[in-house]
Amino acid sequence: MIKVSNVSKIYKNHMKALNDISVAIEDGEFVYVVGHSGAGKSTFIKLLYREERATHGSVIVNDLDLTKIPNHRVHKYRRTIGVVFQDFKLLPNLTAYENVAYALEVHGEDAETIRRKVKDSLELVGLLDKMKQFPNQLSGGEQQRVAIARAIVNKPTLLIADEPTGNLDPVTSQSVMEVLEEINRRGTTVVMATHDIHLVNESRKRTLTFENGVVINDAKEGGYFYDDEVL
Ligand code: ADP
Repeated sequence: MIKVSNVSKIYKNHMKALNDISVAIEDGEFVYVVGHSGAGKSTFIKLLYREERATHGSVIVNDLDLTKIPNHRVHKYRRTIGVVFQDFKLLPNLTAYENVAYALEVHGEDAETIRRKVKDSLELVGLLDKMKQFPNQLSGGEQQRVAIARAIVNKPTLLIADEPTGNLDPVTSQSVMEVLEEINRRGTTVVMATHDIHLVNESRKRTLTFENGVVINDAKEGGYFYDDEVL
């Protein structure tokens, strides 16, 4: 469960990116985070994986208050969640398999466990047959699915995605969405920031709309946006 209570974030340049927001997300939900550029979406997402720390208020994820944990504990927290970015962030000199395995190897898992977990994860994203290929031998959508496999290999309860389809065409975006939806069906909470009006309209899900650092709308059944609206 995620409980964001009365959170403000003021950056060093005095920019108030979030202004007293409160949001609760239950286990197993799929939530879109939308809003104009500069509305505070990325800041909200960054608070959830403790890339940034709230200036005021509390950010509780799975009973842990992220505003209170010291920096040296952050890596331990991050092992319990998965994060996916717009630009994939794969290591170019490692194969798809190695990119996913790397997330486990740094935690000292034994070889057989690594093999099983990596293959399970690549199978879920539909890329077992391409596990020996390097990122530059994969399409954008395939690279993002490898990044998702890496994010879920530790079986996180929460998957955070910041514009995961931002670099992808509509057809490829759909395949990435199907993977995220399957992960959600298996019980993982998914929080996804997006500008993609079509995705938000096509798969109606709870949608938080940010504007000027506040949540101006929380549409539990999903929001509907017109083409001329800018997300
Ligand atoms: P969005 O993801 O909706 O585009 P952001 O959360 O990135 O919005 O930004 C919200 C506001 O905070 C913007 O005005 C942005 O310029 C500012 N901001 C974001 N990151 C920083 C930072 N590291 N330092 C200073 N200001 C920032």
